[in-house]
Amino acid sequence: MFQNKKFKYLVYYITGVMILLLILNSVLRSARTEHIKYSEFEKMVEQKAIEEVQISDNQIIIVPKEKKGVNQKIKYTSNIERNNIRPLIDKLKAAGIKYDGPVSNNDPLKNFFINWILPIFMFMLIGRIIFGSVEKRMGSGVMSFGKNNAKIYGENETGVTFDDVAGQDEAKESLAEIVDFLHNPDKYVEIGAKLPKGALLVGPPGTGKTLLAKAVAGEAKVAFFSLSGSSFVEMFVGMGAARVRDLFKQAEEKAPCIVFIDEIDAIGKSRDGAISGGGNDEREQTLNQLLSEMDGFDSSKGVVILAATNRPEVLDKALLRPGRFDRRVIVDTPDLKGREAILKVHAKEVKMSDDVNLHDIAKSTPGAVGADLANIVNEAALIAVKNGRKAVIQQDLEEAVEVIIAGKEKKDRIMSDKEKRIVAFHEVGHALVAALLKHTDPVHKITIIPRTMGALGYTMQLPEEEKYLVSKEEMMDQITVMLGGRAAEEVEFNSISTGASNDIEKATQTARNMVTIYGMTERFDMMALESVSSRYLDGRPFRNCSDNTAALADEETLKIIKQAHDKAIKILEENKELLTAISERLIDKETLTGEEFMDMINNFGKEKTIEEQKEENIKEEINEEDKKIVALDDAEDKIE
Ligand code: ADP
Ligand code: MG
Ligand code: ZN
Repeated sequence: MFQNKKFKYLVYYITGVMILLLILNSVLRSARTEHIKYSEFEKMVEQKAIEEVQISDNQIIIVPKEKKGVNQKIKYTSNIERNNIRPLIDKLKAAGIKYDGPVSNNDPLKNFFINWILPIFMFMLIGRIIFGSVEKRMGSGVMSFGKNNAKIYGENETGVTFDDVAGQDEAKESLAEIVDFLHNPDKYVEIGAKLPKGALLVGPPGTGKTLLAKAVAGEAKVAFFSLSGSSFVEMFVGMGAARVRDLFKQAEEKAPCIVFIDEIDAIGKSRDGAISGGGNDEREQTLNQLLSEMDGFDSSKGVVILAATNRPEVLDKALLRPGRFDRRVIVDTPDLKGREAILKVHAKEVKMSDDVNLHDIAKSTPGAVGADLANIVNEAALIAVKNGRKAVIQQDLEEAVEVIIAGKEKKDRIMSDKEKRIVAFHEVGHALVAALLKHTDPVHKITIIPRTMGALGYTMQLPEEEKYLVSKEEMMDQITVMLGGRAAEEVEFNSISTGASNDIEKATQTARNMVTIYGMTERFDMMALESVSSRYLDGRPFRNCSDNTAALADEETLKIIKQAHDKAIKILEENKELLTAISERLIDKETLTGEEFMDMINNFGKEKTIEEQKEENIKEEINEEDKKIVALDDAEDKIE
């Protein structure tokens, strides 16, 4: 195989070189001409040293016979008078010499064609081929400076309406005005109202900003030009600016219309240079052009500019000034109601069985954005197909949620019995601490089926209702739950494993936030030690204090973690039998639902305390401060 291929390439190569040499040779040959007198030519004819003669109007070209060992032919030319041509031909015939012609060399049209038109045509063809391939490689635009033919994505009708965007009622409300304006601008012009030039859609990724922009165009039934901010930033300085100019020109021709600049932070970054570290000429020029275009165009024509970003804090102040993107539309993570509405929108696209309860799915996906939910519905449809169903059932949706959260099930991953035991105790540790603490979310599911995203098992807790504030107690309890997994390993096996790394990371982050951001320690009172840079991108907070203070903050963080760790150990030690019983059951069944789990806790408590309680009740009716029983009561409250 390998040999063959090599050989093939060699053949290609040699053929190519030979063709090239032939061409060169013939060019050289034609170049080597020598002028001789006619009498000399006649002599050559007598000597029969001539191979061929080409005759034209007033000239002949003589190709001499090849001499031995010389393969280089020299051509001779000689002048000839018109009258001599006839006799010459007779002579050549008699001597048996090949001849060609007479060819008219004096046709001016033909000369012009051969000397000028043909070469020009050839060069154009070659140029086209070469530049065509270059253009393809460089992503076009090379030969069309400033011509905005590349990435403008124009649509006459987006076909998207506000109904397709769910759970963003406030955003839709503020955009409805723009739609109304595009419908009949006269109403606004008459009264002299300043029309909105642009609106900035701000929010985390996947919440539907792009979708909303399209919906505005769809509702207003106007054309939609969309361009991503990064496509303005070109390799040649000045091209981005040219694009902006072009875009606005096109938009004004097509008015009324929407111009949508997605991810505007790519060009709109603050120009003070502190962030980018030194200036970026191209970006600055582009931004300046955008600013001046926005000032320059007449909004009464009906061009509205929408832009989207998830990093509003890096935008240049000049962009946000009145008359530019003065209107800010927040497109935030949807709440429970919003999530249900979004699920409904996407559920329309797939066949759902009647028993599907989207409310429950919405409940089990706190923090999910529109893109996640669309993804969940699609994943559920795929799971249904895989299971040979004609419609999606609730179970498919639940499985889809877990796939999105934790990855696909990895059934083929075989864990040893010992590992399985460790994972089971670890997970039940989380769950039990959660159930026995007061300020925690109920346990929804415990499983030790490994998933592709790295978890060997997991415990799912779901809030009963959407929370927007978290108290200090709740945060403390959250950390305790996170550390409950490792604590269970310690209590049961008296040894620890690597399985808690993610828990540790999350617990540390929460504890650190308590100290540095939320002002929940006495030592630092309400001092901010860290600031969050990009709210919509889960950006890492950056430090805001001296090294000394940071060291002290670490100490405080550690204190919180230690406290939570001790508490988790204490709870599990006090309920060791319960821990063991539930873990054994989990090893058996691999998955426990929240209900099964709570049933076990409740029944276990009752069975065990029947005689004890009797005695206790008889002895004294004082409410014992036993933490366990208090906690159990709390847990019971929660199930109801
Ligand atoms: P963004 O631009 O905010 O990052 P997109 O608008 O690109 O998000 O959303 C991606 C996809 O997610 C959309 O095409 C849509 O299918 C879905 N989606 C997002 N938000 C919503 C929503 N509020 N209602 C319905 N679908 C949504
Ligand atoms: Mg987008
Ligand atoms: Zn864990």
